[in-house]
Amino acid sequence: MRKPLVAGNWKMNGSRESVSALIDGLTTGLTQFAKDGLVNDIEVAVFPSAVFVQQVENALSSTNVAWGLQNICTAESGAYTGEASVAMAKDFGCKLVLVGHSERRAIYGETDADVATKVERAGLAGLVPVLCVGESLEERQEGRTDEVVARQIKAVLKNSAPESLTELVIAYEPVWAIGTGLTATPEQAQEAHAAIRGLLAEHDADMAARTRILYGGSVKGSNAAEIFAGADVDGGLVGGASLDVQDFLTICRAAG
Ligand code: PEP
Repeated sequence: MRKPLVAGNWKMNGSRESVSALIDGLTTGLTQFAKDGLVNDIEVAVFPSAVFVQQVENALSSTNVAWGLQNICTAESGAYTGEASVAMAKDFGCKLVLVGHSERRAIYGETDADVATKVERAGLAGLVPVLCVGESLEERQEGRTDEVVARQIKAVLKNSAPESLTELVIAYEPVWAIGTGLTATPEQAQEAHAAIRGLLAEHDADMAARTRILYGGSVKGSNAAEIFAGADVDGGLVGGASLDVQDFLTICRAAG
């Protein structure tokens, strides 16, 4: 049985003060849910900007909420100005790391090969790589969704060591739905997730059964439950709505 995961990608947002308030609200709300028996066994994680990771570690280390970096470097260490390594992520208690978010692919030119290297580095270091994949609006309109997503995933399956993929999480995030307020319909999400699981099954049946596939793209408290109802949807990667405590808590509840 795959445990649902709800993860908040805070992107380049926040201040010491807002991060503190967000974490307080989140942990208080989740504790209350547990007391009231409102949420079953789910995992919750947050991805703050790297500058807040120490603050997040301090605040969350005695809770069940995990945290991670939004990106890691392809290299192990050295002259890579502006980057953070898997060893640094581990040193600050990160459990997960986002890899290949569409903003990194589009704005910073990350290639499928870079993404495969990062997944491998993260996985081998014992971090959970959350591999983000998804098609642009143009690609969807051309009927190329499955082809694009398959290319992105195959690059990882082919180039990352198998032992780095045991805990892999995939986030299906149609680019046209990220930060736009447009959301894939529950049917579109389930269809894409089923295709991803089918692709994984061609590679390794056990991996297909255990890999959690999250949906991301304008998930909100108001649409989370219907999207998460899909048989192959194992939770969500949430951007904008993860900055609003109440909305994020509603999303967590929908996953549990
Ligand atoms: C994301 O950035 O991963 C994301 C899904 O953003 P949003 O929820 O704002 O669309």
